[in-house]
Amino acid sequence: MDFAFDARTEELRAKLLAFMDEHVYPAEPVAEEQRAALASPWDTPAVVGELKAEARRQGLWNLFLPDPAYGAGLTNLQYAPLAEITGRSPHLAPTALNCAAPDTGNMEVLAQFGSEEQRKRWLQPLLAGEIRSAFAMTEPEVASSDATNITTLIERSPDGSEYVVTGRKWYISGAMNPDCEIFIVMGKTDPEGSDIRRQQSMVLVPRDTPGVEVRRAMRVYGYEDHSHGGHAEVVFHGARVPAANLVGEEGGGFAIAQARLGPGRIHHCMRLIGMAERAIELMCRRAVARTAFGKPLAQQGVVQEWIADARVAVEQVRLLVLKTAWLMDTVGNRGAHTEIQAIKIATPRTVVDILDRAVQLHGAGGVSQDFPLAELWAAARTLRLADGPDEVHQRSLARRELKRYL
Ligand SMILES: Cc1cc2nc3c(=O)[nH]c(=O)nc-3n(C[C@H](O)[C@H](O)[C@H](O)COP(=O)(O)OP(=O)(O)OC[C@H]3O[C@@H](n4cnc5c(N)ncnc54)[C@H](O)[C@@H]3O)c2cc1C
Repeated sequence: MDFAFDARTEELRAKLLAFMDEHVYPAEPVAEEQRAALASPWDTPAVVGELKAEARRQGLWNLFLPDPAYGAGLTNLQYAPLAEITGRSPHLAPTALNCAAPDTGNMEVLAQFGSEEQRKRWLQPLLAGEIRSAFAMTEPEVASSDATNITTLIERSPDGSEYVVTGRKWYISGAMNPDCEIFIVMGKTDPEGSDIRRQQSMVLVPRDTPGVEVRRAMRVYGYEDHSHGGHAEVVFHGARVPAANLVGEEGGGFAIAQARLGPGRIHHCMRLIGMAERAIELMCRRAVARTAFGKPLAQQGVVQEWIADARVAVEQVRLLVLKTAWLMDTVGNRGAHTEIQAIKIATPRTVVDILDRAVQLHGAGGVSQDFPLAELWAAARTLRLADGPDEVHQRSLARRELKRYL
């Protein structure tokens, strides 16, 4: 078993680490300042555009896409340590590299299931980082962790030329950003169908379609999450789109959602590990610099215990994430199903715990806007819900485990 990264990964890691030091970390306060001066807080600060141009110039672009026809052609195992590095500045770096959710998952859907026309119209500008996109599945009225509950209707018009979309979604990431021009909407084309996993379909709904209302920004622990383009409530009041906007086939929505979530989940976990590394770094810097009751915090046994435990925990989840990436590369996303669930359960929990200790070590500063910790904590905590709550993954993983004994 070889734990070393290959030459290409090492080369990209070195380049990316330098990009983070020279461009991304210095841009963090600049983005904050620029956002405060924007006409709308949902607009994109100019520095983000500059970061994107520089990343693209350096070949640090679309690293997440394994298909070389569209992206860098890296395996999951090659991409994992790079995504981890971007997680150290999760509000800027993934966007700078055009590797930010939900666009990544949406690009994968279009690359894999989109028609030639759809790829030309929407995938190309997304790959070029010219527009953003959103994925609209969750609904306030139903338990959406069970996607068969979705009630949004996607009805074929009597002459068959259009689909009419009616329903209400919420927590639709990115949708507040005016650059978000396209929604992939999950709804039901056959609500009475006998197979509950074939009732759903996905359609592309451009933002400017009459009947699309981006109603409000949902908060996350009190934050509006501007840097991610917010998480919007979006209402579709009989929005009409051409029939050609169907993604894949009618009844294929559930399967596409499953295919989309595998890579999406591991990408989140990779970035979470980077968030934990940033927390450990901040913890150590603070511990050696701050003195209480006559000695540096770093000399308190309890602080040493937090730091040691954090290091052990992050190494554990990293190994599990890398193993999962390797399995996805070697036996496919389906073959890695159990491990994808395992990392989606283990990583957010572990990282939330590390961030919580880092907040504690920083005292009031930890919950303030002067350190990234509170915002990182809120972001990590939401990942125990988004892309499937812990309990749903636990249920499915336990069932698989138990099956062997039945
Ligand atoms: C910041 C953020 C961003 C998001 N972005 C998007 C997005 O871009 N697009 C999108 O469509 N959605 C998005 N979501 C929504 C997210 O995917 C859903 O919140 C998630 O799937 C859970 O659905 P729900 O909120 O309806 O919870 P419910 O389905 O109502 O579940 C509530 C709770 O019930 C428990 N539960 C559910 N099932 C089981 C079970 N089988 N066994 C035991 N307990 C169970 C769990 O504890 C779960 O948390 C986002 C959410 C957040 C917080």
